[in-house]
Amino acid sequence: MSSRFLSAGGAMGALMRQYDWRATPLGEPMAWPQSLRSAVSIMLNSRYPIALYWGAELALLYNDAWSPIPGGKHPWALGRPAREVWPEIWDTIGPLFEKVIVTGEGVWQEDELLPMLRHGYLEECYFNFTFSPVRGEDGSIDGIFNAVVETTDRVLSERRLRTLSRMGERANSSLTVDAACQWATDILGDNAADIPFALVYLRDGDMVRLAASSSLPAGSAAAPERLSLGGTASPWPLLAAAEAARAIVVPAPAGYDLPSNFWPEPIGEVVLVPISCAGEERPSAFLVAGANPRRRVDATYRSFFELAAGHIGTALATARAYDDERRRAQALAELDRAKTAFFSNISHEFRTPLTLMLEPLADALTAAVAPEQRERLEMAHRNALRLLRLVNALLDFSRIEAGRVEAIFRPTDLAELTADLASSFRSATEKAGLQLTVDAPPLPTPVHVDRDMWEKIVLNLVSNAFKFTHEGAIAVTLREANGEAVLTVRDTGTGIPATELPKLFDRFYRVEGARGRSFEGSGIGLALVQELVALHGGTIRVDSHEGVGSSFTVAIPIGTAHLPPDRVRPANDAALSAGRAQAFVEEALRWLPGGAELEAPL
Ligand code: ADP
Repeated sequence: MSSRFLSAGGAMGALMRQYDWRATPLGEPMAWPQSLRSAVSIMLNSRYPIALYWGAELALLYNDAWSPIPGGKHPWALGRPAREVWPEIWDTIGPLFEKVIVTGEGVWQEDELLPMLRHGYLEECYFNFTFSPVRGEDGSIDGIFNAVVETTDRVLSERRLRTLSRMGERANSSLTVDAACQWATDILGDNAADIPFALVYLRDGDMVRLAASSSLPAGSAAAPERLSLGGTASPWPLLAAAEAARAIVVPAPAGYDLPSNFWPEPIGEVVLVPISCAGEERPSAFLVAGANPRRRVDATYRSFFELAAGHIGTALATARAYDDERRRAQALAELDRAKTAFFSNISHEFRTPLTLMLEPLADALTAAVAPEQRERLEMAHRNALRLLRLVNALLDFSRIEAGRVEAIFRPTDLAELTADLASSFRSATEKAGLQLTVDAPPLPTPVHVDRDMWEKIVLNLVSNAFKFTHEGAIAVTLREANGEAVLTVRDTGTGIPATELPKLFDRFYRVEGARGRSFEGSGIGLALVQELVALHGGTIRVDSHEGVGSSFTVAIPIGTAHLPPDRVRPANDAALSAGRAQAFVEEALRWLPGGAELEAPL
């Protein structure tokens, strides 16, 4: 018989041709049956990884493409019984051979875990393979045909990718550095096959602090809470990782109880990865991770650890940015509080001496004094009063800002109150040659307002309209619309440039170069009005055009659903506090020609 069936077949073909088959269960090739010859010929001439298990002992034959599969067992494995070649996976493949022989049907396994001992250690590896029966001339099963593809790389990379993508999803949403480390180790811990344990250390000068861990309790010998970066007593040579500026692989240190999780073998290698946030030269954190004892840390495995560390770096950067932002906001709020407290204190300090000055001035004015002296006294009195009003406004405002003002809401006939307040400006508008229309028909229901506050809202808006309107009209209207009481104060005054509108309600903000009847003003009025409106759960807006006029609209909800219940009281019939309206009007009158207005500011 010819041995041409052993021709070609590359290295394995050559090896089989010069192999001493007499010592194997298969015997001399010249005596091999036709079924074996045909199968061998197909096998040797295929580029696909193929093996044959032949005869009662399932002696192994394979081609070049298959030869890497048994690793270090090649070429020793050639011609040997299957059981001798594969003791470590016999539990899995033995029954499969059996099944093919008994049933006469092939089997197909997908991504089957076959932990082979082929490179000196038990390895986690996966395969797609078939075992198909090869029948001899008499129909009996003489051997088994095995086509196989190793899928280890795909299975492992899919598993690692799942971990990385979970980390990626979280990386941009960490609120604190410690939370970022915690979820990172949680996600790594969920993939205990690739990361039997993980520690994240944060750098603090020459020390590092353990921020989070999985599978190793914080404070245990292998997971010290604090470590000196270059310390020799440490189980983890983090400084070496920092200097390498990339992942380094070190043998598991002896004497530490490192959890290998569901792998039965002890941890052999540990990966240390320095973590640098964007733009940092020195690493600000480290990932210490146990490696799967059934996989060598090759380039792919190492880059998996580096990518995981990269996500931690992104998360740390996000958390730090968030932290900085929060600190900045806190500092600003602190500054703001300090400013408010300062205004509050200083206004108090101003008030006492002012009141002490006002009393003797008022007394002096009631006494009979020479007209010349009276004029001076009156001026001093007027201006002291004005200063007191400013101080009071400042105090009001700082109290509201500090949350120290508690409104009392009573059901009020808002139309009547508003009409009275607006009408108190009638004499001033007449003197100024302005038309004042007050259109406030009775509303269907009383509106809950703090009376004092509503007075300030209306008086401030009308007095502003008066101050900035040189000719034309001022129209005050009050209406109910969509469950709100809506106050509008419209004027045909100077108007406000569009660019100034966004800042108009800021405290102390004044429009530069505004042509009012007076240069006076502190920029508090509108800020105060806005705060008062907000206390009523309402809104204020402005619509203004330069040279055409302005319109301020205040809307406050009707009813009490929006108000704190303990601040709502029954009606009382307080009369209009004439004093306050009077003070506003007197001030307005002084802005008219011939009024005792101050000269332009210095
Ligand atoms: P003050 O009147 O004390 O300066 P306000 O907070 O009441 O402070 O007003 C801020 C600025 O808004 C005013 O200085 C003025 O420039 C502008 N302003 C307010 N009301 C009007 C109005 N009705 N017409 C034109 N400008 C106005």
